[in-house]
Amino acid sequence: MKDNLRTTIGLEIHVQLATKSKMFCRCDNNAEGKAPNSVVCPVCLGMPGSLPVTNKQAVEWTMKTGLALNCQIPKIAKFDRKHYFYPDLPKDYQISQYDEPFCLGGYLEINDAVISNDSEKSYEISRLDKSMGRNDTLIKIRLNRVHLEEDAGKLIHSNGKSLVDLNRAGTPLMEIVTEPDIKSPEEAGEFLRKLQRIVRDEVQVSEASMEKGHLRCDANISVSDNNGKMSPIVELKNINSFKFVEKALTLVEAKLKDEYLEWPEGNTKETWGYDSKKNEVYLQRKKEEAADYRYFPEPDLPPIDTTEFDLDEIKGQFGESIEKKIEKYEEIGLTRGEANTLASNRTKEELFKAISQNSSLLLKVGKFVVHYNYDFNEGDIERAVEYAKAITASKENKISSNLFAAITKSIHLGESFDRSLEKVGGEQITDESAIGETIEEVLKNNPAEVAAYKQGKTALLGFFIGQIMKATEGKADPKIIHKLLQEKLK
Ligand code: ZN
Ligand code: MN
Repeated sequence: MKDNLRTTIGLEIHVQLATKSKMFCRCDNNAEGKAPNSVVCPVCLGMPGSLPVTNKQAVEWTMKTGLALNCQIPKIAKFDRKHYFYPDLPKDYQISQYDEPFCLGGYLEINDAVISNDSEKSYEISRLDKSMGRNDTLIKIRLNRVHLEEDAGKLIHSNGKSLVDLNRAGTPLMEIVTEPDIKSPEEAGEFLRKLQRIVRDEVQVSEASMEKGHLRCDANISVSDNNGKMSPIVELKNINSFKFVEKALTLVEAKLKDEYLEWPEGNTKETWGYDSKKNEVYLQRKKEEAADYRYFPEPDLPPIDTTEFDLDEIKGQFGESIEKKIEKYEEIGLTRGEANTLASNRTKEELFKAISQNSSLLLKVGKFVVHYNYDFNEGDIERAVEYAKAITASKENKISSNLFAAITKSIHLGESFDRSLEKVGGEQITDESAIGETIEEVLKNNPAEVAAYKQGKTALLGFFIGQIMKATEGKADPKIIHKLLQEKLK
């Protein structure tokens, strides 16, 4: 029953725009390192009688982002007031966009064959060889809209007191809302990485650092069965790294599936939190009434005629084109899906470039960087030469794929190639008689499987190979195993 459960994820992403001034006033939009409440004015403090003026650059950049995300730009857009009370929101309403945003629809394409986020799993088996020739494609994640609003201030809680810093109040904030098209936590991670690349490197409107809060993500996740029975919709708010978004979603997904029999009737909503230190999720609150924000058109700002902007010119201002990079990576032999992952993930791309400088095996390097999920970081880029050595050794069949996985893991943890090779256990076993003996032993210990195999259950071949690999600690040459095993099973 539980095998038929489907996961549905939607994301809501807020991106701070790196404009020179704030959204509706002339305050400096860069308050990094400045004293609390020092970059403020009557407008962003929400003083009575102050009047907002729209930042043209922010409007242009929002449409620029929308164009990169394949959105339509309606002719008319307007701002609305969204009312709610919170101590970091001085006006008691946020200027946002309700029914006439700058960008509608659109989509972003991601790899549909995303590798598991479980890094232990990727250590175990060779993804490099398995994934060779895989025919993965791109899928479209549809967007609902992209709109522009202003950010709120920040609350700082310390020693039982709560303090407010309004430097951030009035920062231009783009909100990007997806349709519920995402089917796994890994896809959510893939989507976010690509979106970050687009806003930071393609349209260049934000530094988009999640750690610094330039890019913030809320996620909705639910699970349903084939008969329309559905779990509560769980909302996860403000998670500050891609890894944590994936981890939190993975945990919630598992819990919802476990609780299948206890799902409440009707569509219920819950807010859950994520504790990154313990890697745990927990219920924060069941959803009260749907919030009523009493939206109405902002009376102090006129609607905006977007036809006054030269969209073609805006399009011409793009930085590096992700699509062009994808084509370039397809040319070296990567599938479109793999090329997309490489072009969408800055760390992986930098690692690819660094290893490529030390190896001419471009395709193999690309496959490795795309499919191995070691939480690649700066240190890996420094060890590019070592990875290149491992890739060459693998290409020359000096190490088995299992050994390759163990060695690259060890390089990732800081060792050199030579030291890893020593540590992980020497060169590959290619001695046919030694491998033959191991095979004999494995077959002797598994008579039932041997009988079944001989009666036609040929899928058991994988089982035998696994046992032999285990007995030789992954060092036996797979080609020789294959050859000998088939001879001996005749
Ligand atoms: Zn201001
Ligand atoms: Mn918002």
